[in-house]
Amino acid sequence: MGVQIPPSASFLRGRSFGPCFLSNGMQKSTIYPLFLSGTACPHRCSYCRPALSSGVNRPFDPGSPPADLLLWLRVPRFANNRFLALYGTDLVSWSANTLEPLLQWCDAILRSGAVSGFRTSLRPDSVNQADASILRRFSTIELGVPSMDSSVLNAIQRDHAPACVTDAVHRLRELGIGVGIQTMIGLPGATREIDQASTEIVARLRPDYVRIHPTLVLYETPLWAEYQAKRYVPLDIEEAVVRSAAAWDEYEVYGIPVARCGFHLPDSQLKSALAAGPWHPAFGQLVRGRRWRDRLEAYFDSHPDSDTIDVSQKAISDAVGHRGENRRWLEARFHKRIRFRPVPEPGDYPW
Ligand code: SF4
Repeated sequence: MGVQIPPSASFLRGRSFGPCFLSNGMQKSTIYPLFLSGTACPHRCSYCRPALSSGVNRPFDPGSPPADLLLWLRVPRFANNRFLALYGTDLVSWSANTLEPLLQWCDAILRSGAVSGFRTSLRPDSVNQADASILRRFSTIELGVPSMDSSVLNAIQRDHAPACVTDAVHRLRELGIGVGIQTMIGLPGATREIDQASTEIVARLRPDYVRIHPTLVLYETPLWAEYQAKRYVPLDIEEAVVRSAAAWDEYEVYGIPVARCGFHLPDSQLKSALAAGPWHPAFGQLVRGRRWRDRLEAYFDSHPDSDTIDVSQKAISDAVGHRGENRRWLEARFHKRIRFRPVPEPGDYPW
């Protein structure tokens, strides 16, 4: 007996580096992420190495657009619904002398019709303090929201309260700006229950999309000192996968796309910076696979005569699991061979 399982709308694949495609279920966007390295962040969140958060080593000159961006703007394949995302710094805390030249060439690119708009990531307190005329330059702003629990925010020296996030979301909505939220799991003091409660609060804010980042310990950070003193124990991969899958499930209930589930830095950057934590080269696939496994387990539990599952071709690798781990796990669990049959078109969920 076979059933058809379509990929859920939230089984999106997001990429943070290179042109990235983000679908909100209605339309597809192409996003060029530009990491503004060499620009100082005045804050010191315990898990962060601001110099690394830019994701690139070459310094960024705010006075002129980088050559690789100009090349990308000429690629016709990326021409529709194209956005430039300015990441890696808290732009609104820049001095006017640094920010103004950047905004000027951004405006020129927008006027030329080469992009549909701009995105950036900001702290919620920066959104609440920033001049509305600067915020309005962006069509979408991603808020860094490591947690909605005040004890966790204190533990990571975040210097703002959870209510600040709610205020920032409301302000962006009032200004007609799209809202993305970058979340974290496994921070100091964040139990599984605290992470899930934080997820529920974020989901109720109804952002346009979220990102889920497991906490890693990077060298030369305050969190690294906590780890060395054995006051912080990072999640292992299994726990990080379980918590991320639970968060993704919750966002799906609210119809909120997960644009990325994984790390905020590319592997090349992490290699030299990673001291400890649940890093895995296919972390996102592990989480998508675990979500499939949970559903497949429930399905075969309630359909003991079934041994075949029809899965859309797009989702088959997630359903079978990383290196076939779901197939092995399900076969051991149900003591029978299980067949994953790829089908071109998705059908209905059996659950
Ligand atoms: S997480 Fe963001 S606000 Fe905090 S130190 Fe890093 S770059 Fe600055």
